[in-house]
Amino acid sequence: MVCLLCNKFQEDVLTIADFWWRYERKYSCLHCFSAFEKIEKKKVCLSCFKYCSHEICQDCRRWQKLYPGYKFRNESLYFYNEAMEEFMQKYKFQGDYRLRLVFAREIRRYLKKYKKWLVVPIPISRKRMLLRGFNQVEGLLEASNISFFQVLKKPYDREYQSHKTRGERLQELQSFELMEGGKEKIFQRKVLLVDDIYTTGRTLFHGFDAIREAQPSEVRTFTLAR
Ligand SMILES: [Zn+2]
Ligand SMILES: [Zn+2]
Repeated sequence: MVCLLCNKFQEDVLTIADFWWRYERKYSCLHCFSAFEKIEKKKVCLSCFKYCSHEICQDCRRWQKLYPGYKFRNESLYFYNEAMEEFMQKYKFQGDYRLRLVFAREIRRYLKKYKKWLVVPIPISRKRMLLRGFNQVEGLLEASNISFFQVLKKPYDREYQSHKTRGERLQELQSFELMEGGKEKIFQRKVLLVDDIYTTGRTLFHGFDAIREAQPSEVRTFTLAR
């Protein structure tokens, strides 16, 4: 196997876990993969999975005030550490589409419990799509063999987010709308909104804003990194 992250060749080594889960192809070497920091549920805010010593973090309390009645629940797999930042850089900004496979196994296993839910990826703008050639969230889901349904779209292109401060990002207005047929799809369904990174939460709350009018029975969110 040639590691997609360091490009070095590594002999496939079977572990007990491989027998347990049945052997699945790996796309990164152990050395590279061990640099990602998996989130331990004991150490995080129960509502958003941010590292926190309290049950609910300050940010979530603020969201609760803005969204009374919405029991926000986000789950994430990895902390956004240096290795994850580098991964996102290569996958999203340099557009290395092969990297969608690196976390496929972990995402597939984690999302097993959401088998009956309607999985909705966060969309990207047309401009981004033309530039990158793929939606990075859909790429992660596809690689993980998770069926999803796109019901959201960006109404118009916005300035690229990375240049903005946290305050500016929080202030952004509604940034998604439902696609045609989305309403019927969502009505009375449990919906799992999926994004690659959870930063301020704003994007996922915008997603929620766009689908709430279609009356889903429950909305949860999932991101690869936190
Ligand atoms: Zn490697
Ligand atoms: Zn929180």
